[in-house]
Amino acid sequence: MLVAKFGGSSLATATRFRQAADILRAEPDRRICVCSAPGKRFPQDRKITDLLIDLAYSQDEEKSLLLRQEIEAHFQEITEDLGVRQADMLHGQRISERLKEEEKDLSVDRYDGLIALGEIFSASVMAAYLCKSGYKASFVGASQAGILVYKAGEHYRIHEDSLDKIRDQLVTLLERYDLLVIPGFYGRDAAGKRRPLSRGGSDVTAAWLAAALQADCEIWTDVSGVFVTDPRVHPEAQPLPYLTYDQMLEMAEHGASVLHPEAVRPLQAKGLSMQVKNSFRPEDPGTLVGPSLHP
Ligand code: ADP
Ligand code: ASP
Ligand code: MG
Repeated sequence: MLVAKFGGSSLATATRFRQAADILRAEPDRRICVCSAPGKRFPQDRKITDLLIDLAYSQDEEKSLLLRQEIEAHFQEITEDLGVRQADMLHGQRISERLKEEEKDLSVDRYDGLIALGEIFSASVMAAYLCKSGYKASFVGASQAGILVYKAGEHYRIHEDSLDKIRDQLVTLLERYDLLVIPGFYGRDAAGKRRPLSRGGSDVTAAWLAAALQADCEIWTDVSGVFVTDPRVHPEAQPLPYLTYDQMLEMAEHGASVLHPEAVRPLQAKGLSMQVKNSFRPEDPGTLVGPSLHP
């Protein structure tokens, strides 16, 4: 079984959603899809998560209204192009209505409650699109998936106890559906509240889901693997075909932002592999992360 995670740049537009769905269809072993919030469509664009953070901090109703409209417009562009009706996702609620409701509902934890909504909307769109294309897919919220989090310093981290819970929750659902679409980047704390992981945390969600299900993990991003240095800064850099867990961890901790460092240990603990692949060029081999340099 494979857990396939698609990052924000791989879900920024309807065309990117279609390409991600094609990747899912190409390999029936891909039974779990983890979605990030849509990223930038063009260089001056703003990521949905950045807009949600602004909304969470906004004290000015006029500014909040504009932010809600901008978030909804980005999603609407995607859903209209994909032919997904907003009525078929989020229990028929409009995105701006849901945002407004959550802003009120979670006044005490406004920031934590709001910022992972991009992932929830994104996974809802993907599940609705896959169903429309004849797939037996279902949206599963991260809390329904059994992801428990605790506070560690400034951030929340996924709790070890999640492993059994995730397995219990997902094994039954996997009997009923071909594919489960799960939002990344958050879990529930002991009080049942939605709490975000640190930035880039959808990688961490995917790694823990894979560890719980004894599945390998795929990180689909916008570059063809892990490079010696950031390929956007050094276009001559080459992707590394293999990395050990420890090498990957060291690189992630020292600026290789292609992977969240907390995504390595859950897989290492179970000896599962991770592949970092380019959703724009799925034919490229990417980087395989595992116990040794040669599989
Ligand atoms: P996603 O939206 O898929 O999560 P990220 O922006 O988190 O994507 O990670 C991909 C980006 O990481 C690449 O576009 C690249 O610019 C950057 N990056 C930084 N260091 C490296 C590296 N050593 N190898 C590959 N990519 C890197
Ligand atoms: N959307 C979140 C972020 O921008 C999480 C992620 O993309 O992994 O940090
Ligand atoms: Mg990332």
